Amino acid sequence: MEDPRRDEIAAIAREMKARLSWYREEGVDSWKIAPPAPIKESERIQKMPKQKEPKPYEPIEPPRFAAEAPGGPLSAPAGSTAPRTLAEIRDEIGDCRRCKLCSTRKNIVFGTGSPTAALMFVGEAPGADEDAQGQPFVGRAGQLLTKMINAMGLSREEVYIANIIKCRPPENRNPQPEEIASCKPFLEKQIEAIRPKVICALGTFSAQTLLETQQKISALRGKFHEYHGVKVLPTFHPAYLLRNPNEKKSVWEDLQKIMEELKKG
Ligand code: SF4
Repeated sequence: MEDPRRDEIAAIAREMKARLSWYREEGVDSWKIAPPAPIKESERIQKMPKQKEPKPYEPIEPPRFAAEAPGGPLSAPAGSTAPRTLAEIRDEIGDCRRCKLCSTRKNIVFGTGSPTAALMFVGEAPGADEDAQGQPFVGRAGQLLTKMINAMGLSREEVYIANIIKCRPPENRNPQPEEIASCKPFLEKQIEAIRPKVICALGTFSAQTLLETQQKISALRGKFHEYHGVKVLPTFHPAYLLRNPNEKKSVWEDLQKIMEELKKG
């Protein structure tokens, strides 16, 4: 007779395999930390609406972040009509023409994962694969990020993944200050809506933008910082790890610090 728990056992085996694969890759042969408690069942953000015919670029005033409100960090101004849910924030972005990246992008890459995630990953900007699919971290670096998340005992659906800017810079060049200034308020609103316990800032641009510093990622990583009352731990970007696999051990140490923080409840 067929074991009724066969699917469940197979899922556990798949997860263990993914985790062990990450451990092996970065040379970990023992660890002390138990996985964090499971996070609420996730719901995916609705897929992007189809892109309409591109309109000309029309710079407009960036939206104001509610954290500027007198009520303090991550609180909306009195009488504010600021969007409160991820779906509302996505609606507000619409077919955004607020910076010149609108003229070269294929898709706006909003973000994906649980709207109640305790852990949020914030990268820099979409690349070619992400631009094509409208989803963050789906290329090679994204596959490595998925392994990192699985190694923490979590799934992509249990965390939230977004970028500082939502449209791909041409030829993957660095985002320009005015592009970051136009797009950052949307990320701020996403953070405000999700209210994660920890943000893992992936790479230089993410860490420098969130923490408003010019310090290098090598100086920022591995330590908890603060963003409007939310703990931020910067670490190396998965794309950097693909070029510098020796740094995987450092990243694993950073991820363990996050796991310990999440366990505190
Ligand atoms: S990068 Fe951000 S601000 Fe610029 S067009 Fe895309 S969504 Fe709008």
